[in-house]
Amino acid sequence: MPMQMLLKLDYNMELIRKHLVNFSPYSSARHEADEIDGIFLDANENPFNSNLFNRYPDPFHKNLKLALANYYGLNLNDFVCGNGSDEIIDLIIRLFAEPFEDRVLALSPGYGMYKVICQLNQVEFHEINLNQDFNLDEFIVNQILEINPKIVFVVSPNNPTGNLINPKFIIQLLNNLNGILVIDEAYIEFSSQDFWIKNFKNFNNLILLRTFSKAYGMAGLRIGYAISNPEIIQYLYKIKLPYNINSYSQEQAIQKLNDSKIKSDLEIIIKERGNLISELNKIQEIIRVYPSDANFILIRLLNSNALFDHLKKRGIIVRDRSNLPMCENTLRISIGNPQENILLIKEIKKYFNYE
Ligand SMILES: *Cc1c(COP(=O)(O)O)cnc(C)c1O
Repeated sequence: MPMQMLLKLDYNMELIRKHLVNFSPYSSARHEADEIDGIFLDANENPFNSNLFNRYPDPFHKNLKLALANYYGLNLNDFVCGNGSDEIIDLIIRLFAEPFEDRVLALSPGYGMYKVICQLNQVEFHEINLNQDFNLDEFIVNQILEINPKIVFVVSPNNPTGNLINPKFIIQLLNNLNGILVIDEAYIEFSSQDFWIKNFKNFNNLILLRTFSKAYGMAGLRIGYAISNPEIIQYLYKIKLPYNINSYSQEQAIQKLNDSKIKSDLEIIIKERGNLISELNKIQEIIRVYPSDANFILIRLLNSNALFDHLKKRGIIVRDRSNLPMCENTLRISIGNPQENILLIKEIKKYFNYE
């Protein structure tokens, strides 16, 4: 795959909002003293640790970043951690997009959070439809470049469609964009391809987003992280709230990163996905079962509403995605455990009179 290096000097500095280039962040007690042992009388904490959480959490997430760096064979400075990747999406928009001036673009159908955060920050938001295969192509890349966005969000594997976005066209965007490209990889652990983590260093305007919410089953603990060059990472650390991730979540994430139960559960989900796809494909009334690199499957029907209602009556809740562009009459089905998946197929077959 052809890979050009973008080596504009101070490129990211030029993209950062002007008032933030020389911004000095709040310096908390934990910023100024990062000793591990000692008598800590600097943060007005309660000295009696009857609940084990009397101390403020590490604002730099050092142990968590060490664990991530180890896990991926990367450096500490390649990572920033957030209160879910949603927090990092907000930080990226606030770091690069000037309100009333810059444009932010996302692909459709896709994840809804980018638009909401742009609206909150009064940043102009644009959406461009993917093609019939829910992917990028030359035509769409040109459409995007014409809008000249400061930030482009690409979800890969995409939600709700499940497919990976072709890296060839992402590279075209990276090389021609006068701005930052974010690849939201919330579902990457379910995918057979892991291209970008191996290649992100070739691009200085690329940010990868990952999360503990999906494959690691920790959505309630709120931990996401971004992988990018140390310059961007450093700025994201400057503008985030100091204590954005609580101590318990940081500890749990470190433990779960190498947990073998997580790994085997992941394998089960991937195997179940294969089974579900082949079972769904046997049902002729389902017009299309879209391929998936994620932990869900999108299907297209003649009347998605009717199947949705039937499943709901039988106590099975799936997500109707029909209101999204190009998703008329689609349902998004998350991969459940083996018993749940058997019940799902049984109920769909029953609905279409297969038994
Ligand atoms: C679920 C999801 C997220 C949310 O991640 P958190 O880390 O829980 O905030 C981000 N992006 C996409 C595409 C998602 O589907």
